[in-house]
Amino acid sequence: MKKREGDRLPLRIHWGGSHFVRQSPGQERTGGLTGGEFVGYQALYRKYRPQTFEDVKGQDVIIRTLRNQIRTGRIGHAYLFCGSRGTGKTTVAKIFAKAINCENLQDGDPCLTCRSCRAIADGASMNVIEMDAASRNSVDDFRQIIDEIAYPPADGRYKVYIIDEVHMLSGAAFNAFLKTLEEPPAYAVFILATTDPQKLPDTILSRCQRYDFHRISSDVIEKRLQEVLTQEQIEAEEKAVRYIARKAEGGMRDALSIMDQCVSFYTGGRLTYEQVLDVLGTAPRTQYAVMLSQTLQFDCSGLLTTFDSLLMSGRDTRQIIGDFTWYLRDLLLFKASGGTAESLNLTDEDAEELLKAGKNVSEDRLMYLIAVLSEVAGDLRNASNPRITAEVGLIRLCRPETSGADPLAASARLDEVAQQTAGLSERLNRVEEAIRDGRMIAAPGAGQDGEKASGKAGDADRREVPKLVAPELFSRIQGQWKNTLQAMKDPGTGSIMANLAEPWYNSSDQETLYVAFDDDWVKAYRDNQKVKEEFQDILEAKYGVRPEVRFVSKCEMQQRTDSVRVQDAAKIEGIDFPIEEED
Ligand SMILES: [Zn+2]
Repeated sequence: MKKREGDRLPLRIHWGGSHFVRQSPGQERTGGLTGGEFVGYQALYRKYRPQTFEDVKGQDVIIRTLRNQIRTGRIGHAYLFCGSRGTGKTTVAKIFAKAINCENLQDGDPCLTCRSCRAIADGASMNVIEMDAASRNSVDDFRQIIDEIAYPPADGRYKVYIIDEVHMLSGAAFNAFLKTLEEPPAYAVFILATTDPQKLPDTILSRCQRYDFHRISSDVIEKRLQEVLTQEQIEAEEKAVRYIARKAEGGMRDALSIMDQCVSFYTGGRLTYEQVLDVLGTAPRTQYAVMLSQTLQFDCSGLLTTFDSLLMSGRDTRQIIGDFTWYLRDLLLFKASGGTAESLNLTDEDAEELLKAGKNVSEDRLMYLIAVLSEVAGDLRNASNPRITAEVGLIRLCRPETSGADPLAASARLDEVAQQTAGLSERLNRVEEAIRDGRMIAAPGAGQDGEKASGKAGDADRREVPKLVAPELFSRIQGQWKNTLQAMKDPGTGSIMANLAEPWYNSSDQETLYVAFDDDWVKAYRDNQKVKEEFQDILEAKYGVRPEVRFVSKCEMQQRTDSVRVQDAAKIEGIDFPIEEED
């Protein structure tokens, strides 16, 4: 028997391979191998988890290399499997563990029927030790493993340690591990799996054979999904399957889990594209086309309204931002490829839609939008209020002055702002001096900074009201609201004020400009003296006045009988309040 194994399997046999009692062929096969034998429901990704190298899809180079090593008996001591989730790292690790212990190797693949294969499949083997470093990362957890390594396998050839999410180990655990890696017992094989190899110490990295698991192409995933559907006797629209394959972003496990979800929601009939969108909480692409067109028209409030309606229909903030980004990415690839982009795997319908959407937008602009959205997606990961973070991001998309994606233009604009600010403080000093000296008794009227006062707003009013803010000035401030706020140093704050706040008129306090925010927002600004002062500076530079500024909520303003929105003030006060159009 020893001889026969040696012939077939030239592994270095360090430990009694002949101890095995081979079971005769045809003896019972138990669970975990293929579908059909399970009574209870089993998740698709478990049921269709590859059991041999042959079954693993989309990692051809890695599989070929590992199989060759097994065929030729050149087994290393430490393997590092890197790659994003669901790309097959632990699946391959387990097949590898089975193969190197298999008594009846089939061309580098485990036989699945020998005692060792079955024990490993059942999780009953003492030779395969799995550890999840994400939950057990202390040096004590690790010491257990290390202590145990001293004992050779009682059965089989190799002891295989599969350590998942190995980058989560503590520093002390890494140190302890390093000692073992420097002089591993001949029978020990470590397979380290990680999504984040950069976090591993170099000393560990340099002792491992590294294998990078790639994201699996959506074609490969789609094919696999079709196979599974056929086996499960489930009918599905091609578009539905294609969408799931893309949505999985290169992870086979995710693809199967998504499909599981969709199938369990819609038992019976044929699985449709709409059902898949529904289960995944994805909005139809047309919604993203609308968002893009609103973005391109700098229609900020429209964009926020669409976003709001998607939220109201039960979609998740992160998902909306993510899906919008994917939509723009598709569009960019589509344009860049001159409208072919086979890799996009689009349906004719989608392609037609992208062709239409692509006409109005440049590649540069798309890249800029994607860059902003990617940042937003990053911010969303730690956001305590994801909705607000997303809204600020969407407002940024709508800012025309940053649309060039041209760093020179952006820095030129910064310089301009810096100059303005310098000019402002100089000017402020002069004004303060003048006030101290008593030279300035009445407030400077509007228009002193060279701008013409708006058409009909009575000159008489201005002279008769020696208040800091003359009524018609309110209307000018309102009319130039967004332009004015573009001068804010922090574009985010400027955008929020421009889009989520409005000036209010208070008949009993005309020396104060009330800025009423949406209720969610006022908390962030109510006591922000710095922003208030900056805003005052801007008002002064632009209009020659420096009113008190108060940040309040729309709600509280609405409750005050003496306060109205500036545009409503005209009607109530009977004053001619022409609201200027923004330039
Ligand atoms: Zn076997």
